[in-house]
Amino acid sequence: MPTQHKKTIAHFGASILGIPKAASWTWRIAAAALVGVLSIGAAAVVYVTGGTSFAYSHVAYVAIIAGAAAFGLPGGVVTAVVTSLFLGPLMPLDVAAGIAQATTNWLVRGAFFVLIGGLAGLAFSIRDRQLHMIRRQSYYNPLTGLANRTRCLERLDQLIRSGIPQHSPLLLLSLQIGQLETISSSLGHEQGASLQKAVAERLKRVLPDDAKLFHISSGVFALVVTAPQEEAAAVGSALVEALNEPVIIDGIPIRSEAHVGLAQFGEHASTSLALLRASLSALQDATAAKQAVLVFDHRRDDARRARLRLLPDLQRALRNSEEITLHYQPKVALETGVCVGAEALVRWHHPEFGLIAPSDFIPIAEQTELIRPLSERVLSLAIRQMADWHTQGLPLSLSVNLAIRNLEEANLPAMILELLERHGVEARRLEVEVTESGLIRSLDEVSTNLALLQDLGISVALDDFGTGQSSIAYLRDLPADSLKLDRTFLRDDAMANPRSRLLIETTLEACHKLGFSVTAEGIETKAVYDLLRDLSCDFGQGFFIAKPLTEAEFRAWLIRECRRGLCTRK
Ligand code: C2E
Ligand code: MG
Ligand code: MG
Repeated sequence: MPTQHKKTIAHFGASILGIPKAASWTWRIAAAALVGVLSIGAAAVVYVTGGTSFAYSHVAYVAIIAGAAAFGLPGGVVTAVVTSLFLGPLMPLDVAAGIAQATTNWLVRGAFFVLIGGLAGLAFSIRDRQLHMIRRQSYYNPLTGLANRTRCLERLDQLIRSGIPQHSPLLLLSLQIGQLETISSSLGHEQGASLQKAVAERLKRVLPDDAKLFHISSGVFALVVTAPQEEAAAVGSALVEALNEPVIIDGIPIRSEAHVGLAQFGEHASTSLALLRASLSALQDATAAKQAVLVFDHRRDDARRARLRLLPDLQRALRNSEEITLHYQPKVALETGVCVGAEALVRWHHPEFGLIAPSDFIPIAEQTELIRPLSERVLSLAIRQMADWHTQGLPLSLSVNLAIRNLEEANLPAMILELLERHGVEARRLEVEVTESGLIRSLDEVSTNLALLQDLGISVALDDFGTGQSSIAYLRDLPADSLKLDRTFLRDDAMANPRSRLLIETTLEACHKLGFSVTAEGIETKAVYDLLRDLSCDFGQGFFIAKPLTEAEFRAWLIRECRRGLCTRK
């Protein structure tokens, strides 16, 4: 660990609150005093009631059991010894007659006291250990040993009750390790666990010794900070920066890009639970916006809640055949300008909000089971549409976008095959698109299904190619037939900048040599169209050719194109 990671955060003005330990000592002193009083009280009772020859010496067991209950085995034994001495040499056998006790008398009694005190202490010690274990399980994360979400909420409640927020801003900082899922799924769960442990260690190292780091859920840590927002944000940035340097897991250096969310008690939430929720909401926004630190924002939170509210509506929409439709964006062969087919793009006509773009509901559908019926509906509409076109003498193909979760389902190929057979459409007319970023994350899980689809004759296209930010070495074994070059490749400077042009040229050449056909997405100008055609790109889509169209618009567009010269654009 480099030295600059040592307690860097101690330099900030922010105070990161730990958990006070003083309370247990006060309790221990009070308990010791009580046991002492009970022992002396027992001796007094025995003396006042006439001496040890009477049955009252049994009252000493009250003190012994109390000692055992408060301090376990040592408490039971020590109280037994002390009480037996109180009832020992100086205590008469009979106070009124002035008869002293024989030594064996009080020694035997003392031995009984020690036996009972020891046994009771042992029983209480075992019970305490069990309670301690149960407490650990319910208050600490088993992986890192850090206090968990319940403990974090208790701590916040404690601070709120003690009036801290009236004196200084009270913030909850939550931090999430990026790529934990990817690392767990690609390297294994043990490596995912090791990463969390290594991150916890790294964070502890940069935090002041008395700071309390909470591990509130898988890959998510939290800190309670009392400081102005800017200082708390500086703490967040320092934590993110500390994680920028790779951690070594099984000899592999892993850089875990982290994000931080911040929320302030009073300003963003009025209970501990609401503060935790607000902090996690800010964390989600920071992760989505790829920002190191974000403070809670009501508008962003409202927008997310509104999107989540769409879920029940989407469920209803999937039962109502009218609301979910497809638009078709023509795909042309760049060399000839002939339209070879289209990409089917889903549209949702919400009865209240109007047309909703896929980017507003596909991500939430992907987080739920709804992505399955949604994709089934899209596939069914697309295949039925192809069947219609084929009967009208239009031999068009369609591409359908699928989510990774769809491809993880074992029965997907069978479901698609059944739809193709039902509508009498050849498999080679259908193409499925899957995004590069999704595929890289789950290649192992989905490659069997992709290979099965290819065996059926369905084409597989890698969508948004070039945005996955990964090495292109994976292309060698990729179960795909074609690549869709993302429109970020075709930025305005593609024409002017010789290096951009060279990048497109080399990418196209490499893809062709590896046996993939290439479709360029997002062609917006004639210049880009001409450049791609000159560089031998196979197919193209984009606003220059046509925007996504309704079925009626698509047919009208096709007729116009054909009238303008055998359906060519050249
Ligand atoms: P995509 O598959 O990359 O689709 C292309 C998107 O780019 C479409 O947005 C299209 O309207 C837009 N586009 C096409 N040409 C141009 C252009 O020249 N310039 C610009 N600026 N944009 C262009 P859309 O329809 O909003 O779809 C967005 C994304 O939603 C799609 O990206 C796809 O990943 C996803 N999607 C759409 N339909 C479905 C579906 O049925 N299922 C799933 N799982 N995802 C879908
Ligand atoms: Mg697509
Ligand atoms: Mg795309």
